[in-house]
Amino acid sequence: MSLLKILKYPEEVLKQKAKPVEAVTAELQKLASDMLETMYAAPGIGLAAPQVGHSIRLTVIDIRMRDENGQVDEASMTELEKKISMPLILFNPEIIKKDGKTTFEEGCLSVPGYFETVHRSNYIQVQALNESGEKINFETDGLLAICIQHEIDHLDGKLFIDRLSTVKRGIIKSKIKKHGYPSQESQKEHIL
Ligand code: ZN
Repeated sequence: MSLLKILKYPEEVLKQKAKPVEAVTAELQKLASDMLETMYAAPGIGLAAPQVGHSIRLTVIDIRMRDENGQVDEASMTELEKKISMPLILFNPEIIKKDGKTTFEEGCLSVPGYFETVHRSNYIQVQALNESGEKINFETDGLLAICIQHEIDHLDGKLFIDRLSTVKRGIIKSKIKKHGYPSQESQKEHIL
């Protein structure tokens, strides 16, 4: 396993629509496990392949919160979230149904230090290929639904700042242009 470099806005690959995976090969499985290691080290709860320079439809996700002893804190999870075994490795993920509305203060490993409220669907049904290349289909809500929508946006060449108002997005972009990114990255949780 090895740690990968996480690319930041305005890297070009982050703006490209990523290509579907034709088959889940051993090489792609290795990339997925390197992405998981990179995500945990960051730390983050989701990472999409374009963020590490691969314009393909692959994302890895693990939203579980742990206490100081490393035990998973299930209290913060919804019933639907608890049914999903994590980490999740999703190739070609697609949202086939969505319902309801929610908001969340999102951050992103590719836009470190910035957090803004983003509007998302509250409930989603997802279709994808798992790490073995098998077709899977599941429903979820809560933070996991928000995270999956954020990661699929990455696969479509979109960042969370692209979902803000023109004014807010403009302020963030000009701050990044002027000051770059904070050297001491914020210790906030839930960085997608
Ligand atoms: Zn992100």
